[in-house]
Amino acid sequence: MRINQGFETWNHPYLFQQLEDILKNFSEEERSEVISLGIGDPDLPTPSAIRAAMSREHLTSYHGYPCVEGRIELRTALAEYYDRRFSVQTDPAEFLIGPGAKTDLFDLPAVFSNPGDSVIILDPAYPVYCDSATFRGLRIHFLNGTPQNEYRPALTDPARQDPSIAILFVCYPNNPTGAVATPEYLQQIIAFALSKQAVIIHDIAYADFTPGNTPSSGFSIFSLPGAEECAIEIGSFSKPFSMTGDRISWVLIKNTRMRTLWRRYRSNRDSGVSEFDQAGAIAALTDPDVLSAVRENMETYGRRARILQSGLAKLGLAPSGLSNTPYAWFKSPFPDSRFSTEFILKHARVLFTPGSGFGPGGEGFLRATIFKPESVISEAIVRMERIVPRLT
Ligand code: PLP
Repeated sequence: MRINQGFETWNHPYLFQQLEDILKNFSEEERSEVISLGIGDPDLPTPSAIRAAMSREHLTSYHGYPCVEGRIELRTALAEYYDRRFSVQTDPAEFLIGPGAKTDLFDLPAVFSNPGDSVIILDPAYPVYCDSATFRGLRIHFLNGTPQNEYRPALTDPARQDPSIAILFVCYPNNPTGAVATPEYLQQIIAFALSKQAVIIHDIAYADFTPGNTPSSGFSIFSLPGAEECAIEIGSFSKPFSMTGDRISWVLIKNTRMRTLWRRYRSNRDSGVSEFDQAGAIAALTDPDVLSAVRENMETYGRRARILQSGLAKLGLAPSGLSNTPYAWFKSPFPDSRFSTEFILKHARVLFTPGSGFGPGGEGFLRATIFKPESVISEAIVRMERIVPRLT
């Protein structure tokens, strides 16, 4: 048997598998006591107008294989959304509907790199960038994001001097840190990508996740000059619309050659995204009832975010994030984030995500989500208060 060598260099199991492994040592009863603020899966319901649109689609006709780029109505709705939301002009033909951002992100390097090339990852980062690079035999330059550089790390010399940079993975608003980009920063990234003839994969999965309905600081990379030649933007319906189970995303590529290549790959990789999910996504972007349901959900998330923010601050763990993402990002009580996670789980029965699961730059930090009711988040804070004396 010949096994992908990525398994040898890939030294961490998938982040959420890691959390499962930690929980494995718990009895059934102990597990039932755990408050998990670990995984980023929205708990508030999918707006009913989205569900109704999906059901209608299901009941009214037979569907064969969908077309691989997605329905024209959905791509038109996306073009209108880009105009309304980002003041970016697009053509519906520039979008490809995908089966979830995770799948798109994992697969894009298959088209835009070759084994032995390098990628740049702004670290800490959503683990899929690293995993995809590893399985494709790509070398990784991590750019170290810190609170001091506001998680907008400078390009390092080794990255600048590397002649084989193929891809830069960039995500703002950022999971896990909640950091946002500035146009000046992304402009530097674009200039660098152009100088290397590399591709930027810009992940905006959280651009519309706004706890408390505060205006989002997320923006499209295509609002900046030069992006048209080198950027790919990935968006997802998962988080703002509570559609993680429906598996639907979009990939926006303005460069015709790049888009043609991605379309060709997609037409071999899969057979498009289900018509039901696409009907739901059209409702998500066009139905006014969805807009008000999302605003209501964001109000709820805002209240939760305030509880988590002030609770962690009281514990001396003042977090960043929470205004542009559903995540609080804060220093772990002990330098080793996995040890801290296990310690807190054992003594407080609260589960956070260890920062090390997001790459070397995440070590020393923990991530908490707001995907639990207010009372549960408050209870997590109370439990944490009880163990404070043991956290030093
Ligand atoms: N991008 C980021 C930064 C994420 O955090 C996630 C999920 O947590 C995704 C993409 C995946 O989105 P999807 O549900 O569309 O696969």
